[in-house]
Amino acid sequence: MSHIDTICVQGGYHPGNGEPRQVPIIQSTTFKYDTSEDMGKLFDLEAEGYFYSRLQNPTCDHAAAKICEMEGGAAAMLTSSGQAANFYAVFNIATCGDHVVASSSIYGGTYNLFAVTMKKMGVAFTFVAPDCTDEELEAAFRPNTKAVFGETIANPALTVLDIEKFAAAAHRHGVPLIVDNTFATPVLCRPFEWGADIVTHSTTKYMDGHASAIGGCIVDSGNFDWMAHAEKFPGLCTPDDSYHGITYAERFGKGAYITKATAQLMRDFGSTPSPQSAFLLNLGLESLHVRMQRHCENAQAVAEHLQSHEKIAWVRYSGLPGDPYHAQAVKYLPHGSCGVVSFGVKGGRAAAETFMKHLKLGAIATHVADARTCCLHPASSTHRQMNDQELIAAGVSADLVRLSVGLESKEDLIADIDQALAAL
Ligand SMILES: *Cc1c(COP(=O)(O)O)cnc(C)c1O
Repeated sequence: MSHIDTICVQGGYHPGNGEPRQVPIIQSTTFKYDTSEDMGKLFDLEAEGYFYSRLQNPTCDHAAAKICEMEGGAAAMLTSSGQAANFYAVFNIATCGDHVVASSSIYGGTYNLFAVTMKKMGVAFTFVAPDCTDEELEAAFRPNTKAVFGETIANPALTVLDIEKFAAAAHRHGVPLIVDNTFATPVLCRPFEWGADIVTHSTTKYMDGHASAIGGCIVDSGNFDWMAHAEKFPGLCTPDDSYHGITYAERFGKGAYITKATAQLMRDFGSTPSPQSAFLLNLGLESLHVRMQRHCENAQAVAEHLQSHEKIAWVRYSGLPGDPYHAQAVKYLPHGSCGVVSFGVKGGRAAAETFMKHLKLGAIATHVADARTCCLHPASSTHRQMNDQELIAAGVSADLVRLSVGLESKEDLIADIDQALAAL
């Protein structure tokens, strides 16, 4: 396989003679066929091809194919958002009456999806601390557990998941590990190499990288043997009546999980990405490897500066040698710890808000992973549904400022931070 730098630039789309050099935007809801018989085969999943863009679209598939290659996966699909990706990734194998073990250190939106919305749908979740002991992790499993979920680098707590530990526990119980790899991107970490089975992304973040399009992606490694645990996964291992009795795991092998998610979940829920968004995503992917390097370099410099500043109470960045997750970062993120740094300003919540108000380059935005530096106070925004106890479990204290370090000059960014701290 090619180096990831080459896949970022050229993967997923291979134009033939005289075809467009750049991925074409196929802005069409539908596709034309000569006979009803031809189209019927597509509906029955007997032939490959496009018929309606709610299910599949060539522009979206090119971007998905590139991300699939980058992660070293077997099959992938785009979704309209990261939320849809995580929902589909879990709901594809865990439905009413089932149970999932999840790290408590995850994105606020995902926590809400699991603990509130999916709970209403009858899926139960047990949350475990990312650095729980083997015994605590073991105790979280139930006979009806269908998956384990965590984030490589958690947003916004910035804990680093011990992917090998979580994968081993999942596999001991005959279920897959799903890893949200949004913050690391496959440039910094490829969870499949550490035993994860399924990877999800909010492509809205570094992959897009320019705050231009919301999107998500699910990649399947193809490594999990559904048939070996057929009693746990009837949706994949028994005939689907809505597709004339196809058994996905038998018929599609390593593509079974993604085919089922497309054929059932995308068909029924329709969280479809637009071809225009997929085009923008692909444009972002072309420079992802170059941008990630610079995001990491800038964030490392900013984190080191903050750490030595008298007005800063604490800094969280796994690239710092004193960070509790540094050892895990050395193992799982040898090329850098992404561009997001979190810290507490002395003086708590009010000081954090004053500091943020005085930043000139760093804008207050509900976003991370943008080329432009931005910052957020999670306790009063993304995590405001949580009570104080839940905030602590999620690794988000009330004074936490999440700074997404962009691609500007690090000297300018540090000067901006210093003048904003001087205003305190
Ligand atoms: C942003 C984010 C999501 C949700 O993605 P959207 O594209 O905003 O729907 C999920 N997981 C992580 C880690 C995120 O940062």
